[in-house]
Amino acid sequence: MDVRNVIIIGSGPAGYTAAVYSARAELKPLVFEGSVTAGGALMNTTEVENFPGFPDGIMGPDLMDGLRKQADRFGAELIADDVVEVDLTADPKVVKTATDTYLARSVILATGSGYRELGVPNEKRLSGHGVSWCATCDGFFFRGQDIVVVGGGDTAMEEAIFLTRFASSVTVVHRRDELRASKIMQDRAFANEKIHFLWDSEVVDVLGENKVSGVRVRNLKTGAETDLAATGLFIAIGHDPRNELFKGQVELDDEGYVKVEAPTTRTNLDGVFAAGDVVDHIYRQAITAAGTGCAASLDSERWLAEHG
Ligand code: FAD
Repeated sequence: MDVRNVIIIGSGPAGYTAAVYSARAELKPLVFEGSVTAGGALMNTTEVENFPGFPDGIMGPDLMDGLRKQADRFGAELIADDVVEVDLTADPKVVKTATDTYLARSVILATGSGYRELGVPNEKRLSGHGVSWCATCDGFFFRGQDIVVVGGGDTAMEEAIFLTRFASSVTVVHRRDELRASKIMQDRAFANEKIHFLWDSEVVDVLGENKVSGVRVRNLKTGAETDLAATGLFIAIGHDPRNELFKGQVELDDEGYVKVEAPTTRTNLDGVFAAGDVVDHIYRQAITAAGTGCAASLDSERWLAEHG
């Protein structure tokens, strides 16, 4: 069976950027894009205004289409299928879809991470139209507006505080009557005059036709439901790295993200590299994912040369 130089699992900014670099290095990479979610997280958003090189912004799906075409142009082989099983300790490494088996000398993991959703009506429909999971990405769109943030941890407080740069008001909706966030983040949030707290409450629906006009919240103690007027809903209840495929093979940190030998993208397994949000729980941006995708390709190229 044909043994590939490099197989890339994932088709977000990390996977496609790794593919562009590997293809231009004549490594003939094989990319598994996923069956339903090819293009990654940005396929679910509208305007991306912070990816360098697009002064007028670009729609998320257009950016990903461009990256895909760029990888294709240099000869990356793109397969819109899911990898269902891997053996990354074997030599060569084994990568399986539901129907086929592939072998490769090196593998780049770029499976991303999933933002946790509330699971309430209209949340998905209004994603990118007022519902967001990323204040750094979308805060700028909410100048002078009223925003709701859901969550009680450090990330939620960070998002809420950041959003006060733009918003007129930020209401934090939290299920309990105290925050999980660290003391210092709590102090900062409590001291911010634009931030208000709605305790013991959960969001039960997102309101609005074409964009968010409010959120319905239920008080968990009394059961009473009220509608809050808001044009933005930021959901900050955590995210899960997509590690099911290689859990138990590649070393992960306590939160399930792939451990790499920073600043490289090397994992604990020889010839296995990882890039993007499956590694990164700090920055989680398209450009940082693309940056580490580039690094993973260069790392694998070097590794292949050394293990010729
Ligand atoms: P992802 O983009 O998540 O891609 C991972 C890919 O791996 C997916 O295509 C998935 O299908 C594939 N995959 C997973 N498992 C398998 C498997 N077993 N087999 C095959 N394929 C698999 N960032 C910005 O910089 N600016 C923004 O404006 C911005 N807006 C955002 C808006 C939204 C709604 C969201 C959710 C995120 C936004 N982000 C933004 C963050 C950005 O999208 C992520 O940081 C970035 O996409 C991470 O890239 P990635 O390549 O690591 O993973």
